[in-house]
Amino acid sequence: MKLKKNQEITLKIDDLGNNGEGIGHVDGYALFVKNALPGETIRARIMKCGKSYGYARVMEVLEESGSGRVDPRCPVAGRCGGCTIQHLSYERQLAYKAKKVRDCLVRIGGIDTDQVEWLPIIGMENPWQYRNKAQFPVRMQRDNEGRLYPAVGFYAERTHSIVPVTDCAIQHPCMKGILDVILSWMQDWHVTAYDEGSHSGLVRHIYIRRAYHTGQIMVCLVINSRGISPSLQETLLQNLKGIPGMTGIFLNSNTERTNVILGTEMKLLWGQGYIEDRIGHIRYHISPQSFYQVNPEQTEKLYQTALAFAGLSGEETVWDLYCGIGTISLFLAQRAKKVYGVEIVPEAVQNARENARLNGIDNVEFFCGAAEEVVPRLARPADVVVVDPPRKGCDGVLLDTITGMAPERIVYVSCDPGTLARDVKKLGGKGYKLERVRAVDMFGQGGNIETVCLLSKLHSEQHIEVELQMDELDLTAAESKATYEEIKDYVLEHTGLKVSSLYIAQVKEKCGIIERVNYNLPKSENSRQPKCPPEKEAAIREALEYFRMV
Ligand code: SAH
Repeated sequence: MKLKKNQEITLKIDDLGNNGEGIGHVDGYALFVKNALPGETIRARIMKCGKSYGYARVMEVLEESGSGRVDPRCPVAGRCGGCTIQHLSYERQLAYKAKKVRDCLVRIGGIDTDQVEWLPIIGMENPWQYRNKAQFPVRMQRDNEGRLYPAVGFYAERTHSIVPVTDCAIQHPCMKGILDVILSWMQDWHVTAYDEGSHSGLVRHIYIRRAYHTGQIMVCLVINSRGISPSLQETLLQNLKGIPGMTGIFLNSNTERTNVILGTEMKLLWGQGYIEDRIGHIRYHISPQSFYQVNPEQTEKLYQTALAFAGLSGEETVWDLYCGIGTISLFLAQRAKKVYGVEIVPEAVQNARENARLNGIDNVEFFCGAAEEVVPRLARPADVVVVDPPRKGCDGVLLDTITGMAPERIVYVSCDPGTLARDVKKLGGKGYKLERVRAVDMFGQGGNIETVCLLSKLHSEQHIEVELQMDELDLTAAESKATYEEIKDYVLEHTGLKVSSLYIAQVKEKCGIIERVNYNLPKSENSRQPKCPPEKEAAIREALEYFRMV
């Protein structure tokens, strides 16, 4: 059936997309529908038809039994871009996430499900108020009488307009009190909020972190200026210091026109420069710039899983790549001979070293730098390698280096099943077989999922067998090509970013895909072509992976 814009059809929803949207199929053609759930049958209006998929809108729900739909707890659910699946029961959320991990590993990773041990997903006991970190944008809003007032909240999906909210249902309740104090201070002293359009106004973000086990809190005000007046600063501190648990108050200057939240200049105004938390019985110091998992109860389960998969006896040399403040490294060090950690953020490495001392752990060593640069330089043998990269997954050079170090086991901790599956496939081609998978839900009400995979080194005969299997599973070139428009649509749909054909061409070239000449060449010798920024490059690469072009 050929679908047309504005056409109305009856559609059965059979899957859930990455942003919580329902997916239905008409003769194999996928339609994405916001606020529709698998199991529901709807009357849908077609809004847009691309070559390989389109978008539709719910006009009427005809049948919804068994879809697991629940009333969202939060009044701004569906408007705020945060909790994309709050309208789905938590049990179904878990089933969906487990399926997503499995589907990616099969579809992108080329995994034979029978050859893998799938452990059940670890869900949360209480999927509310679990987050220990928030970065709230602050913007001026108009009230009913047209008066401007500062408001905090979250960005509406794929926009930079704010949905005001101070009592987010997945954040720790302490956040509301802190936000209220800062907003009143802004009102009382006529402190302006940042305006992106004019790049004026002062307060850009309020960044709060709370340590789960100690209750210590840090607050950081991100401002569009190098500083604030001593009197303003004093009143702010007076108001914040009294909040129970307050441990450190920071001012961060970010005067750039950028979506990046933190600027480079971080000043401690009051208290100490870190908060202390525990995972298991290990203590950690966390500075504002360092990565720290946002769901403390589940983090312990995640690390326990990684530790179990590492299968340590006490004799092993272990590498923990993308180690942050040494969280996993110190967990592993309890059962290893030696652990080496590698991390790119200097403040995090400083925390990691401090944390080793704090816990009296002396069989760890940390290196600062990009893993793909540091590890090839050091290239020491390893028994076990643990990786825990950001969403974009591991750099190809790093994967080659890791397999060259010939560890018996690789434990891959991932926050993105798509890039995980891509890397598992690459590692499969280099003699590492996926043995065991366990997903851990760290993000109740949202679509993200954390996964731990165990890969082990194959003997050479087995290695050849796997490579053959991979070849058979590969798609043909004809099936795997997507047009520029499809790549643009995919990127927009999944990341909200708009990318040009030029950028796509640049990334394709980097990935070794031969490109049409006119996209790549500058128009004249000395013309300056814009370069695809890293954020967009990652999004385009993801689309190329999705369409199996790389
Ligand atoms: N394992 C840690 C951190 C995981 S998050 C934990 O569980 O707490 C990923 C970490 O990788 C972040 O700390 C980030 O700063 C770091 N990182 C990002 N790119 C990197 C690179 N190219 N090389 C090394 N570390 C990197």
